[in-house]
Amino acid sequence: MNKITERTLYHYINGEKVGGTSGRLGDIFNPATGEICAKVPLANKADVQQAVQAAAAALPTWASTPPLQRARILMNFRALVLQHQDEIITVMSQEHGKTLPDSLGDLTRGLEVVEFAMGIPQLLKGDFSENVANAVDSYAIRQPVGVCVGITPFNFPAMVPLWMFPIALACGNTFVLKPSEKVPSTSLLLAELLTKAGLPKGVFNVVNGEKEAVDTLLTAPDVAAISFVGSTLVGEYIYKVGCEQGKRVQALCGAKNHLVVMPDADMNQVVDAIIGAAYGSAGERCMAISVVVPVGEETAQRLRECLIPRIRALKIGGYTDEKAEMGPLITMQHLQKVKSYVALGVDEGAELVIDGRDVQVVGGEKGFFLGGCLFDHVTANMRIYKEEIFGPVLALVRVESYGEAVQLVNAHEYGNGAAIFTRDGDCARNFTHTVNIGMVGVNVPIPVPVAYNSFGGWKRSLFGDHAIHGTEGVHFYTRLKTITTRWTTGIRGAQFHFKGGSEH
Ligand code: NAD
Repeated sequence: MNKITERTLYHYINGEKVGGTSGRLGDIFNPATGEICAKVPLANKADVQQAVQAAAAALPTWASTPPLQRARILMNFRALVLQHQDEIITVMSQEHGKTLPDSLGDLTRGLEVVEFAMGIPQLLKGDFSENVANAVDSYAIRQPVGVCVGITPFNFPAMVPLWMFPIALACGNTFVLKPSEKVPSTSLLLAELLTKAGLPKGVFNVVNGEKEAVDTLLTAPDVAAISFVGSTLVGEYIYKVGCEQGKRVQALCGAKNHLVVMPDADMNQVVDAIIGAAYGSAGERCMAISVVVPVGEETAQRLRECLIPRIRALKIGGYTDEKAEMGPLITMQHLQKVKSYVALGVDEGAELVIDGRDVQVVGGEKGFFLGGCLFDHVTANMRIYKEEIFGPVLALVRVESYGEAVQLVNAHEYGNGAAIFTRDGDCARNFTHTVNIGMVGVNVPIPVPVAYNSFGGWKRSLFGDHAIHGTEGVHFYTRLKTITTRWTTGIRGAQFHFKGGSEH
């Protein structure tokens, strides 16, 4: 039995904090100091089954609760989250390392999905076709799928879980969330606030853990649908096993996002955009720009000259440093991995223009910091180009023509996001029309769709048929039912009765 203490976290099952029975705890680090800030229980099979059972038991009543009542609980939840905003973003920054403004952005973008889900009575309105045959009417409704599961990554501790559960709950499903074991506290705080908002026990549960927890969720007979966000190899595995088990699965995965710079682009705008999009949140964003493709030698030279001083001036520090623009990486292991990519790039023959490996952060000597890195003359056959690095490492790939840039984007195995910077409408139109990418920006470096649109990549950035949130989210978390009825109208007669004039 795991004991809950001030520094040892818990699962949240059936409206209660539960220590779990695994006897296994994981370390949670403050990445800015390198110190362990808390421990988290890692669920075993029995712990996960308890959560799934709680969700299954709560399902019939919740699924038949009127949508407006479900929406009202989300309204209460939103108000409570705003009241507790400072507490939530502080714990998020402490466990993740991102700056407080970044954590606020993380929470705010997530809350926008709650705001979208508050409109669920309207979103669930079905289609009705009268008189499809004599005295026959037909209508379509969307019903909940059942117990839904969310498996989430470390990089957006609030936003990614909030992409999923507000819509799932609003649609009448119950939910088990398995957040990243590196950043579990935000999800636990949100779970408590849902209960305070009036959500019945068991409707929303959180289990912490790793592969054992995930594998139990993937095979649990009571689980109907799984939303995953994380790395590609894990997502592909989850998609395959989940589908084999007959579950509905959406798996949003890794990325390598290109930003194409045309010779006519506004260079100041481009450089501002790249600094935020490549180095913000230490590059640990699935929509981060990791490849910049300047078109033409002159564009490449100008861009390089403007970028270098800006990258060197990046202010790096922990979340308690108000001036910091970029925090540490998530773990020592991840820092080593990103550094090994920097070494690999040099071996592969790319030019390391800025090496962030020797960064010094006062007070953060043991933290997992890496300064911004810039490679030039990267080519498409290099591993630093092909693979997702997920750190503050930017690659410049020089091309001679617009056509070459599009070919490069389209040939990459990932298809999450891409952007073009240009003042030429024809070129922008052609780019948006022809790139093989799920989310495209024109003079917008990180084209993340808002909550009422849907988020999702193409190619190996998404496995499954549905993107996340917006209408796609409502469709993922509901099953379509079409009903055809015949009521003979013999008693009253089947004819319309029209009167002339303006009578209504
Ligand atoms: P990850 O794949 O390591 O972990 C994601 C989740 O899967 C976690 O909950 C983790 O516990 C679980 N997991 C890890 N290994 C597992 C295994 N072998 N079997 C079963 N479950 C396992 O990802 P991460 O490092 O937390 O997050 C970074 C990744 O997430 C990046 O690749 C990034 O591009 C991706 N991401 C994608 C999107 C998107 O929308 N496409 C959004 C955010 C992050």
